[in-house]
Amino acid sequence: MHSEFDLITRFLAPASAGSEAGVELGVGDDCALLEPTPGERLAVSVDTSVADVHFPASAPPHAIGHRALAVSLSDLAAMGARARWCVMSLTLPEADGDWVADFADGFHALCRTTGVALTGGDVSRGELAVGVTVMGEVPPAMALTRAGARPGDCLAVTGFLGGGAGGLARWREGERDLATPLLRRYLLPQPRLVAGVALRGLASSAIDISDGLQADLGHLCQASGVGVVLSPDALPLAEGLVEALGEPGARQAALCGGDDYELLVTLPPACLEEAQRRLAAQGLPLTEIGRITAEPGMSGVEASTSPGWRHFPGEAP
Ligand SMILES: [Mg+2]
Repeated sequence: MHSEFDLITRFLAPASAGSEAGVELGVGDDCALLEPTPGERLAVSVDTSVADVHFPASAPPHAIGHRALAVSLSDLAAMGARARWCVMSLTLPEADGDWVADFADGFHALCRTTGVALTGGDVSRGELAVGVTVMGEVPPAMALTRAGARPGDCLAVTGFLGGGAGGLARWREGERDLATPLLRRYLLPQPRLVAGVALRGLASSAIDISDGLQADLGHLCQASGVGVVLSPDALPLAEGLVEALGEPGARQAALCGGDDYELLVTLPPACLEEAQRRLAAQGLPLTEIGRITAEPGMSGVEASTSPGWRHFPGEAP
């Protein structure tokens, strides 16, 4: 291991660790020692973001750091888990201290706003890629799985759709201003952790939208053994999406585009209003976009010509 990489490892050390964060021993030893809350379930997920597959290699380093953590945290949000800890594996083509300092700024900033402690890291040389394992907690029987949707449940989605695909389109056109709403949605997604916790006890099932609404809805219906009638006109479109892609393109992006990291949930109709009230308190809309049916299959939209995100046949950003 080169000395530059030792230097980089220091950039990745957490700003703070202590009993408050549930960290008995953080970065620096062979393992971290964590203090899980007694009686709670540990929710664990890992995501690897690869340059020019999941994000543009030339994106601002702080956005790459933010995004790599955000996409992993989105899975905790989709389980209704409270995010607690993470570990990161960073692969870099060269030891560029300025790049890593900016990357670490983005990563640590999201750690702070979400209350997550980075408790371990690993740096190696190779093609740019970031693997992030996240750990969260949820009380027994409170986790929001994909398998709980029941016929008659409402289907609803947090926030707005299509921003990930719209932002990617703007990036390809040469837009580089991160203040552009669509570019923010693509490169700086906000994991819906607070919403996930707020939906505990109300939602019957949940999944985060990483591969596209239609694809992830298919996963949810399959896991629950149900079907759905979707109302495509009800899909809440991201700010600037129609201007960027036109009306049909915007609707297609909302339906099939990936990288939105919103939560798709099902709820008994009697719970919808309370769920909307709780999320409105966070400034987040929850829009009803369909109804769960006993008959399998998806109606209300044409059979998808786009299967959503696929890793191997997929094109690079
Ligand atoms: Mg997911």
